[in-house]
Amino acid sequence: VACLTNWGVLVLLGWGAVCRAAPDPTQRDSLIRLETSRQIGGTVTLTPAETKMDARLRWMKRREMSRPAFPPAMHFFKAKPLIEKSPIFALLQKMPKGGALHIHSSTLVSVDWLVSNVTYRPHCYICFTSDRSVRFVFSAGYPWLTWDCSYWYLLETLRAKMGDPAAFDNSLIQNLTMFTEEPDLAYPSQDVAWEKFEKKFVVASGLITHAPVLRDYLYQGLEELRRDNIMYLELRSGLARTYELDGSRHDKLWYLKTFQEATQQFVEDHPDFLGTRIIITVHRSLSVSRVKAAVMEAIQMQSDFPDVVAGFDLVGREDRGRNLWYFKDALLLPANLGLVLPYFFHAGETDEEGTDVDENILDALLLNTTRIGHGYALPHHPLAKELARAGNVAVELCPISNQVLRLVSDLRNHPAAVLMSEGHPLVISSDDPSLFGNAGLSYDFYQAFVGIGGLKANLGTLKELAANSIKYSSLPPHLKEAGLLHWREKWDTFISSNGNQSRTTKGFV
Ligand SMILES: [Zn+2]
Repeated sequence: VACLTNWGVLVLLGWGAVCRAAPDPTQRDSLIRLETSRQIGGTVTLTPAETKMDARLRWMKRREMSRPAFPPAMHFFKAKPLIEKSPIFALLQKMPKGGALHIHSSTLVSVDWLVSNVTYRPHCYICFTSDRSVRFVFSAGYPWLTWDCSYWYLLETLRAKMGDPAAFDNSLIQNLTMFTEEPDLAYPSQDVAWEKFEKKFVVASGLITHAPVLRDYLYQGLEELRRDNIMYLELRSGLARTYELDGSRHDKLWYLKTFQEATQQFVEDHPDFLGTRIIITVHRSLSVSRVKAAVMEAIQMQSDFPDVVAGFDLVGREDRGRNLWYFKDALLLPANLGLVLPYFFHAGETDEEGTDVDENILDALLLNTTRIGHGYALPHHPLAKELARAGNVAVELCPISNQVLRLVSDLRNHPAAVLMSEGHPLVISSDDPSLFGNAGLSYDFYQAFVGIGGLKANLGTLKELAANSIKYSSLPPHLKEAGLLHWREKWDTFISSNGNQSRTTKGFV
């Protein structure tokens, strides 16, 4: 039986020990303090300047929580303009957030840039499909017709004929994102949301996989992250084959090298940026033998590009795809061959409790995953949760993604609230920012801090969450240490330059 001493320390005693059977009301304050100390950031000691900022954040959060329109309780597409007006959000934007560890390469860059930059390049063709979507391709001559494209327009010519090119560009943006003013009507269920989500991936592919665009695309993605005070990226990518104007194609190695060059250029231009790494992904619709081949290829790529390749993952909707255990022969290959390939599995992105898919959480851990993508189902698996905690396997929490894909509507009910209050290893990420409109990490930090964490999440929580993103990254120990030092400097600057505004300072009212 557990008892609390006068000093607020939990001690374990046997039955019959001097310990009251009923809780002691005089120990209320100690119990509250003890419980708070268990949450993420609960053991972080704040400096006087941090304590001051924490008090201000608490005051701002209380105000936000008391408003009838509380952003975390609403669909993100409706909440976004409110979040953008929030003084907490303004502070989160300035906060050094460390690394983004769960973003997919085809949804890295804002669609505004895709439309205003990429679709304005020469030789860009567009077609309108029968399901009221569009496809793009760059081609020196008239492009090949495909099953979904029976006529291609040269975009430059088509745009010139438009009476209102701005409205036309807006319609292109609509095609490239999931945004709608009526999300509950457009996405009434998980099935509908996922169907539209997967279709959207195809729309941008003709733009992004054009070889001359890829380097600029990656560079722009890093620029957008840095603008949101992010200093590191781990990108999940299928290493798509890129194409030239004459239709010739490059292989996966070309993608890896281009990614490496774009990163090197970016770090040269911005020495405060730590770098980027890739988690190679394949779709869970593939056969076991193809996943086996992909695993062997990833091992080879990691040995050829140890600085770039972090590991391997399977992507695609868990609920309608094959589960991890189905692929065990492929995923156990490295261990059976005495080779190493770190895994970063998406697992537990489901609310179908008790199904085979629900076991992905445990199987990810059995297959020695380094982190768990989403882990939405983790709080329902006490043993898996203990194993993850003991093995320092962090969960990559992507609140807005979970809401847009309809696992949860009011983010105050997100199961990660349990993980946060227990101090489970956790990092915050954005999953598919171009599709959801949650560029950077500030929107997801807002939802985790204000919605999931509630009033008890404090500046210590934010500090630990940001530090976690370096601590649980795939960086080798010496770079992790250097990265953490570097992040701490940025954090201290953030506190000293934002810590002294009073509650009534303009912009914080
Ligand atoms: Zn994902």
